[in-house]
Amino acid sequence: MVDVQSFCDNENKLIVKECAVVAVGFPYIQHWIVKSPHDFHDLITSKRKAASWVKTSHLGIGWNEGGVEYRQFVKELEVACSKARKIYVKGATKADFISRLIDTEVIELTDHCAPPLSQLMQDSNASLMRCLRHSDNAEYVCALNVADKLRYWVTSNSHLFTS
Ligand SMILES: [Zn+2]
Repeated sequence: MVDVQSFCDNENKLIVKECAVVAVGFPYIQHWIVKSPHDFHDLITSKRKAASWVKTSHLGIGWNEGGVEYRQFVKELEVACSKARKIYVKGATKADFISRLIDTEVIELTDHCAPPLSQLMQDSNASLMRCLRHSDNAEYVCALNVADKLRYWVTSNSHLFTS
C-alpha cells in the first residue's frame, strides 16, 4: 500500500512531499518527506497560494521542507516495493504517479469500490499509525496514516482482490 501527499507545480505536475509504504500482511513500513525540485519562490502566484493552503490547511508541511532528494526517494521507493506483487494506491493521479516510478502492477482502489477516505476514517476503530512529523497535530493529513487506514480496508475486504 502506498500513499502520496503532494503539491502542484507550475505545470500542474504532482510534486511528492510525503510518501508512505506499508506492507499488507506484514508489519513493515517506509516513510519519506521529500525535497521539492525547486524553491517555493519559483512557483507562480496561483501555485504559491495553493501550496500555502496545502501547508496551513491540509498537510502541515511546507513546499521547501523535506530531507531526502527526489532521486534518492525514487531509488528507495523501488527497493521498498521490490518484494510486492501488487501495489495498492487510492486515487487516479497518485496511481499514475506511482506507476510511472515502479514497474510493479498498480491497483487503484477507487476502481475496487473503496469508499471515500473521509468515510473510511470514521468507519473503523482500529488504531492507526502517524509519522512523527505529524504526531502532534491530528488535524493534518498524514500519508502514513492514510496508507495504514487503506491497508486495514484492503485486509478487511480481501475478497475484492482475489484475481
Ligand atoms: Zn505524516
